[in-house]
Amino acid sequence: MLPLFEKYPLLGEKIPHVELGQFPTPVHKLDQFGEDVGVGRLYIKRDDLSGRVYGGNKIRKLEFLLGDALQNGAKEVVTFGCAGSNHALATSIYARQLGLRSISILRPQPNAGYVGRNLLMSHYSDAELHHVRNIPLAYVATFYQRVRHRLRTGHSPRVVPLGGSSPLGTVGYVNAAFELKDQVTKGEVPEPDRIYVALGTMGTAVGLMLGLKAAHLKSEVVPIRVVSEQLASVRRLTDLFQKTNSFLCSLDSSFPRFELSESDVDIRGGFLGQGYAYFTKEGTDAVSRMKTAEGIKLEGTYTGKTLAALIDDAQRRDLRDKVLLFWNTYNSRDFSDAIAGLDHQQLPRSFHRYFEEGVQPLDTDA
Ligand SMILES: *Cc1c(COP(=O)(O)O)cnc(C)c1O
Repeated sequence: MLPLFEKYPLLGEKIPHVELGQFPTPVHKLDQFGEDVGVGRLYIKRDDLSGRVYGGNKIRKLEFLLGDALQNGAKEVVTFGCAGSNHALATSIYARQLGLRSISILRPQPNAGYVGRNLLMSHYSDAELHHVRNIPLAYVATFYQRVRHRLRTGHSPRVVPLGGSSPLGTVGYVNAAFELKDQVTKGEVPEPDRIYVALGTMGTAVGLMLGLKAAHLKSEVVPIRVVSEQLASVRRLTDLFQKTNSFLCSLDSSFPRFELSESDVDIRGGFLGQGYAYFTKEGTDAVSRMKTAEGIKLEGTYTGKTLAALIDDAQRRDLRDKVLLFWNTYNSRDFSDAIAGLDHQQLPRSFHRYFEEGVQPLDTDA
């Protein structure tokens, strides 16, 4: 039973949910890395281990979004992202596990080793892959849905939103905060003062912010923006917070309602660098320091930039004695065996460039 549903059984009756991952994910201290960066009480939440085949932060959302697809009798799902999208890959893997076909509509992005690996793994998971130009994703979604509806299947695929960050998907991270609360209660981790997490489509950070309040934890979420400000602004963040809050209140009137004003939110945009999926020096340094100290593998698009912010904050005298929690949102399951025999020639031609052109200079993991 999900910790959120234990507390609010009515939500458990009303919200579609299918078990896909392995929860609770471990939480533990980072002794060596903490010592390296000068933080005495530094912990990590291991959402990289959230699934057996493929972990990371998207499974918590997909348990609700694919639960919803099943409940609606969908036979296929369609989702969106950039070419190397962890979200599109997770959707393909777990949709197939549930017997759903999946379609991913992907946009161009800067090249890195993980892009090709994720594309091959999506292909291995029987996803139908499309590479489109930079047109607004919302437009692609509606257009695509209509076309398929009319021409091919006679019924529309269920849309899984970008990054899984609709109010329904965001509930996955409201629940994650309740999971953390249980771990605090059991003494597995002291109550964090600050939780560092990447900010992309925002469902992860927003779900945590709402869930922490509801679970009566005083931890402050520090969202590190890894996408353009257009996608992740303070206004859009508070909007998703309110919508998710209203969604839960509408299903269970005993769920509390919170105010989150724009001045309560401090989005950290200084670690983005050139833009989404462009690696930064601070980010890749952070990745290699974590690898050396703890053997935990991060990456340059999300978690490296987030950790770089934490390392920067560790210089601040007032934060050294605090309990800091790094929320690892990246997958650490190795799927290289699954894709070892695959050739990129099997992918649509427009994806070949990710295999044939070089990766960005800071990517040492290609
Ligand atoms: C998608 C993703 C994020 C961002 O999460 P959002 O909920 O979209 O803000 C962070 N880290 C990794 C590794 C991701 O794949």
